[in-house]
Amino acid sequence: RVVVVGSLNVDSTSYVASFPEPGETIRAHGFQVALGGKGANQAVAAHVAGVPVEFIACVGDDASGAFARGTLERLGLPTGALRTVPDAPTGVAQITVADSGENTVIITGGANLALTPAVVDAVRDRVVAATIVLTQGELPAATIDRLAVVATELGTRFVLNLAPPAPVSAATLGAADPLVLNEHEARAVGIGADAPAGATLDEWRVLAASAAGGIARSVVVTLGAAGAVAADATDSWTAAAPQVPAVDTTGAGDGFTGTLAAGIAEGRSLPEALGIAVAAGALAVQTRGTVDSYAPRAIVLAAAGV
Ligand code: ADP
Repeated sequence: RVVVVGSLNVDSTSYVASFPEPGETIRAHGFQVALGGKGANQAVAAHVAGVPVEFIACVGDDASGAFARGTLERLGLPTGALRTVPDAPTGVAQITVADSGENTVIITGGANLALTPAVVDAVRDRVVAATIVLTQGELPAATIDRLAVVATELGTRFVLNLAPPAPVSAATLGAADPLVLNEHEARAVGIGADAPAGATLDEWRVLAASAAGGIARSVVVTLGAAGAVAADATDSWTAAAPQVPAVDTTGAGDGFTGTLAAGIAEGRSLPEALGIAVAAGALAVQTRGTVDSYAPRAIVLAAAGV
């Protein structure tokens, strides 16, 4: 079982010709409401990848919270571990996408900020029953730190996707097995900080290897269309992504991370889980949407050649 302790947002996206100026009112030519937040996305991805998932998150007592619950239920996830908090709105991302492809995003943490270290202590029983506990940088840093301590005490493998980079303790990074980062996040924690833009997969493999067993127990770095690399204290691996037509890369990193965690929870080795996660990421970019773009397990395994 994978326990995901993470953020949940409702993404409201307006599609516009160009961004409004301050004080200006413009008409959008499209609008969409969808489930988002890295915690929610990764919980869905792990579920789609075929492992039992428990998702611990906070929502507000409002229409967005009801929408999020309903969406998770439609996708087949249990929602019993979602907490409804009385005094805050469900987390929201107000996204504007211009015809140029650029976007602006305003995130209101709302109920996600109620996911405090005390909540982590309250869900100890769920963490002890898990093979893996997975979290992301969208939670308060103190909560991530507490989760690392609890997972370590209980002997539950701790997987940390430090997206976005958050000021967690060195001990928290040290407990991560693996620490999952994109190229930007890797540089932020000092992995490949001086690497040239466009460094190859093999160069990143060496950088990951030098951090594994030090900064974190193991390290995974995703490199967009190039694929991803992984390293533990003794070995390192690359997984090249197939060349595919990318339609919408939103949520590809979350699809990758949820699939990776699911593979590890199933007992697969890090390189095998890496290969499957790269295949899942490459499939996710070929369809619009976030949680709706995650391909079924059989298709991902076939694409990965497993
Ligand atoms: P993030 O979206 O978090 O910045 P990346 O851009 O590194 O993360 O993408 C995560 C994973 O998604 C990659 O490792 C790869 O497997 C897949 N992916 C992303 N973009 C593409 C692409 N253009 N073609 C194929 N796979 C992709």
